[in-house]
Formats: sequence, C-alpha cells, structure tokens
Amino acid sequence: MKDTELLQLAMGLIPPWQVMQCAFDKEQGRLDISIDFVRGGTFLCPECNRAGCKAYDTEERTWRHLNFFQYETHLHARVPRVQCESCGIKVANVPWARPGSGFTLLFEALIMALAGQMPVQALARIVKEHDTRLWRVLDHYVAEARAKADYSTVEQVGVDETASRRGHNYVSLFVDLERSQVVYACEGKDAATVGLFKQDLIAHGGAAEAVSEVCCDMSPAFISGVGEQFPQAHLTFDKFHVLKIINEAVDEVRRQERASRPELAKTRYIWLKNPEHLTERQAATLERLSLKKLKLKTARAYHLRLVFQEFWEQGKEGAEAFLRRWYSWAVRSRLAPMREAAAMVKRHWSGILRWFESRVSNGILEGINSLVQAAKARARGYRTARNLITMIYLIAGKLDFSLPT
Ligand SMILES: [Zn+2]
Repeated sequence: MKDTELLQLAMGLIPPWQVMQCAFDKEQGRLDISIDFVRGGTFLCPECNRAGCKAYDTEERTWRHLNFFQYETHLHARVPRVQCESCGIKVANVPWARPGSGFTLLFEALIMALAGQMPVQALARIVKEHDTRLWRVLDHYVAEARAKADYSTVEQVGVDETASRRGHNYVSLFVDLERSQVVYACEGKDAATVGLFKQDLIAHGGAAEAVSEVCCDMSPAFISGVGEQFPQAHLTFDKFHVLKIINEAVDEVRRQERASRPELAKTRYIWLKNPEHLTERQAATLERLSLKKLKLKTARAYHLRLVFQEFWEQGKEGAEAFLRRWYSWAVRSRLAPMREAAAMVKRHWSGILRWFESRVSNGILEGINSLVQAAKARARGYRTARNLITMIYLIAGKLDFSLPT
C-alpha cells in the first residue's frame, strides 16, 4: 500500500477526491497533503444537491488539519466551481471542511472539544493559531447548535447578570431552572433584555404564557421587564440576593459605628459570615462584642440578620407571620441601614414569600454561575461580551453540537 492510499483511507476521502501526494518536512515540522479530484470527476451542486455537475474552474485552497504526531498538517486542494443546470456557477463543497473555513472538520471538532477544557488563549498557543480564528469556529458551532435548540418546555426561568469585565459591560443570563441550562444570554442588564429573551424563546418554540415562575434579584429593571413581558408569571426573589441586601445593611451599620467604637476595628468579616464558619478566634471576638452591656449597634444589626435567615426555614403557614414580626422589629431598631433593608423587604413582600409556593431558587443559578466563572476564565484576554456569551453557551447551554468524530 502506498502512503497516499493509507492517508486516503484515514481521511475517509471518497471519489472523485483522492490523495495525490504528501510532502513531509522534518525541519519545518510539517506535513503537506495534496488532494485532487480525478479528471472528469463530477460534483453535487452546493445549492440544490443536483449530482453530476462538472468543474467549471478551480481555486487553490489550504486547510489546517489535525496534527500528524507533532507535525502540523495542512491539506491542499484545488476547489472546483461547478456548473449546475439550475443554479449556475457555484463553489463546490468539499467533504473535509465546511464552506469558508480554513480548518478541516476534524480540526474544528478538536477545537470545540478543547475549548470547553482550557482558556482559548492557551488553546491558541498549543495549536499555533491566532485566537480570532478559533473564536470564529466557536461562534459558528454555537450559533448552529442554538439555531436548532428547542425551548418549548421552558416554564421556570431564573434571571441573573454577570460582569463581562470588571465593573462594566454586563451580560444577562436566562436559565431554564428545571433543566439547569442557560437558554439565553445577551449584553446589558436593563428591562429590554427580558424582551429580547422573550423573542428568542418564541423563536425556539417556547411560549411566553408557558413561563409560570421567574426567579430574579430585586433589580427594578428585571422586575419591570418581567412584568411587561411575562405578566402571568409569578416572581420569586432569589434568596441569595435578598440576604445579600441584609448583609450589606449590617456592614453599613458597622462602618458607621466604627469611628466611635475602636473595638470594631478589623471585624468586618466576622459580621458577614455565619457563626459556624468562623475560626475559634473570630468566634471568641464575636461572643465578646455581642455582650449586651457593650451596646454595639453592629451586634444588634447582626442579630437581626441571623434571625432573618431563619425565615426560609419556616413552614409555609408561619412564614408570613414570621416575616411580619421581623419587619416590625427591624423598623423599630433605630438602625437606619436596617430600616432601609426592612423597607426593601416590604416593597418586595410577595416575591419574597412566593418562595414558599414556587421553591425556585437561584441555587441553580449559583451552579450555573460557577460555570460562568469558568467561561470567564476560558475567555480570558478576549473578554468581549460576545466572546463571553459564546463561551457561556458552550459550557452552560447544554447545546447539541453535531460535530464530526
Ligand atoms: Zn443547483
């Protein structure tokens, strides 16, 4: 068997294509494989699939292929433009690459597999290709897989946002909470993003009326967006975000009190954590500072927070009464930040209580969020919102990529 025959088999080439020659350059570390079609060979029309189209003229093209051991492998072929009786003159498709790509299908499959495992920057170094070419491949397969995605069963949606760069450029995420998959991501974090999500949902077989529960933070933009686009959906405010606001209020009380109470120095994290997560020394400090006779406002705020956490442990029947007691305690606390936090709870009353009916929480969103953090790492260095969105779909979208194997 000649080496060209072996390559022909390995590459799965079918007539009229055949391997003509391969040139191995040890110095350059590369293998160049020349492919050609047999004289008189005919092709399918790329538009209408009509068989038997003859070559009209040809154009030389090159594709990067999987390495042959450590040697970079490139394919070369003259690609025919074919004459179809119905469609006229069109560039024929080749079986080893998709139209317009400078990579073979197998090389693209490798990129797709590795991009979920390592930063694109590192991948670009390993395969010695410019990262923008790799991003183009990722964009293509993600767009293709998303075009086929079916979101007709989406009923419970979680909404969250993430910064694509530190402090600016936000990306909003819409998650199917039952299947824990990102179904939509877009730039921005305003009410309009909810409208974009709704359009996309409908385009993928979903129905806005089918969405019965939405879980989000208390951002007015999301609340008004959901109210407009999904008026029949119940809102549940994410537990984690509600707690975060209470926590921030505790921190604010400490910050204000700090000037007059030197014993509060370097205690910030003690008040932010739960007692069971403290070191022995922190726990001792907490116990000392919590003594009633010290009359620390921060200790009172902290106590309000600990009790608030018990809200989610209440039975469904007692939950509202519990929240009402907490609320009246907080507003009478004479701690301005806690009163503000209580007012916030009051304004979002039904969405906070809704949890006892829906039980939806963005715990799933938190799980997704760790994937999003991974996506950020994969997109490091090229973190445009677009690249980040592509990477989020790739690793948190549960998309079905039809890739060659
Ligand atoms: Zn045709």
